[in-house]
Amino acid sequence: MVGSTDNEKLLLMSEMLIMSSLQVVNNNTYDLVVIGGGINGAGVVRDAALRGLKTLLIEKNDFSSGSTSWSTRLIHGGLRYLESFEFSLVRESLREREILLHIAPHLVKPLLLTIPIYRDRSRPYWKIQAGMLLYDTLSFDKTLLSHRMLPKRKFLQLFPELDPEGLHGGAQYYDCQVAYAERLCLENILSAQAAGATVLNYTKVKRLHQQGTRIDSLTCFDCFTGEEVTVKLSDRAVVVNTSGPWVDQILESITSNGSTSNSSESKKIGATKGSHIIVDPFPGAPMTALYVEAKTDGRPFFIIPWLGKYLIGTTDKRFQGNLDQIKADNSEIDYLLTETNRIIPIAHLSRHDVKFTYSGVRPLPWEESKQPGKITRKHILYDHAKEGIANLISLIGGKLTTYRQVGEEIVDAVYQKLGQQAPPCPTKEKPLPGAILPNDPRLKKAFDEYNNVIPSTSIHHLFSIYGARTIEVLALTDHSSDLAEPITPELPDIKAQIVYAVNSELARTLVDITRRRTSLAMLTHYGLDLLPVMTEILGKHCGWSAEDCDRQIEDYRTYIQENCIPDYELSRES
Ligand SMILES: Cc1cc2nc3c(=O)[nH]c(=O)nc-3n(C[C@H](O)[C@H](O)[C@H](O)COP(=O)(O)OP(=O)(O)OC[C@H]3O[C@@H](n4cnc5c(N)ncnc54)[C@H](O)[C@@H]3O)c2cc1C
Repeated sequence: MVGSTDNEKLLLMSEMLIMSSLQVVNNNTYDLVVIGGGINGAGVVRDAALRGLKTLLIEKNDFSSGSTSWSTRLIHGGLRYLESFEFSLVRESLREREILLHIAPHLVKPLLLTIPIYRDRSRPYWKIQAGMLLYDTLSFDKTLLSHRMLPKRKFLQLFPELDPEGLHGGAQYYDCQVAYAERLCLENILSAQAAGATVLNYTKVKRLHQQGTRIDSLTCFDCFTGEEVTVKLSDRAVVVNTSGPWVDQILESITSNGSTSNSSESKKIGATKGSHIIVDPFPGAPMTALYVEAKTDGRPFFIIPWLGKYLIGTTDKRFQGNLDQIKADNSEIDYLLTETNRIIPIAHLSRHDVKFTYSGVRPLPWEESKQPGKITRKHILYDHAKEGIANLISLIGGKLTTYRQVGEEIVDAVYQKLGQQAPPCPTKEKPLPGAILPNDPRLKKAFDEYNNVIPSTSIHHLFSIYGARTIEVLALTDHSSDLAEPITPELPDIKAQIVYAVNSELARTLVDITRRRTSLAMLTHYGLDLLPVMTEILGKHCGWSAEDCDRQIEDYRTYIQENCIPDYELSRES
């Protein structure tokens, strides 16, 4: 629009308003198209937009609705990877942990972990101690404290509830937790959007069309309107496939001259399934996170304090089912309950205590012969030039922890394909939009201004979710006092968050708001009791019709049943 008159600008804007988002996309040219808005796609799109590339992100569901929202929420070096001598991966992850502490201090917080060490398990005291020393060495530039070893007596003083049978002692060390992993993804996307990227959720890439040695167009489907549009790419555009577990599906959708292309015959992803349970604080619940070796199979798993509850997981099983519908099996839930009760005998957790379950798959590289736990967690940038497609790169693997580094590497590779010198990557230093430190004067100002209207526990809570952007959430209550009210008396969340999610955070469904913009679904009875109050607010403040609300409630119930409520609960209800 540079150089156009005001009238021309107005005309263009009104044309854009009557065009669907896909048609708008079709009328633009992009340097880079990113498929998949999980953490890795979000990292790529932010880096690219900040470095000046005209970028489009296409996500078939909601941002972070894939593996990103099903993780253990740790920003960690991966102590376990030392056992397989993956030192470079551990070093890279530890370096990224430190960067994230600085660019997202409102979301990424230090987490103390404790490892109980037993004589009859596969990892003896000396091995854990050696691992700890190495972990500290590989994080020599960290701001977190180093580890400490605990002899048995000291350990039992600190953790008297843990099973003392065969106990040798323990170790404590720091990693980080990103309680709202979905929001880490979202803030990258919002930052990319602010830097000029076009970001679309609920838009599915159905086919990639290959012409000669290039992908020259994509057929996309708008999941809300049902519209299908073939988006033409410029003859310099690069396509990046960050669709996580769905990477092979995207590659299988490539057509060449109208028929399925043979460009990518080999499988790239070997998904493994991991499930978690969420329980309320229980007898003997630890004050720190526990990193425990399961007695049944020697696998390590976590018991982690999380938003006033405990997140317990995970399992690790090969997965070849439907990637769009993954749920914790009864056997996985029982395994996690049994192992927690073994380590904390007074816990007496039962199926009845499980408040929420979630399950997802790790988009790991395809390594058929290896046990799930032994498959590398390193990421691979797969350049399809070797299969005859010059402008396509797929990401295989890639943890939550290393997303920023992955974004940097991919954007460097994109510049190389564009034949341009890459500008320096800014994401190591540039804070995410909500970044704020506890001594920031904006906090005090917000408390002074809103303390009469909103309880200070709620204001604190908002800062822990939105960081500096809390000011925008609070400002919504200036115009509508009902938005200052709590959504439910049990939680500090306020109604303004619902409106903010839709108006400022690209949320389009009740699931988006309840599961990914907030954690309401996981902290209440699956969020089901909140639906009437939420739809009332959405009708009043966001223009959702009664019909929309009814349909959304129905979709919400289906989502919760298919993904989160254990099967044994459902069979009891029916
Ligand atoms: C159980 C478990 C625990 C984990 N714990 C940790 C942890 O504690 N720490 C850590 O660092 N990592 C952890 N991970 C790994 C980490 O969560 C994932 O590796 C990471 O989130 C992958 O992100 P991604 O963006 O590559 O994939 P995803 O988050 O899956 O994103 C891919 C996106 O592509 C979209 N998509 C798919 N097909 C299409 C299409 N046709 N058109 C448009 N969009 C499409 C999907 O909807 C999805 O949103 C864990 C993973 C699991 C499963």
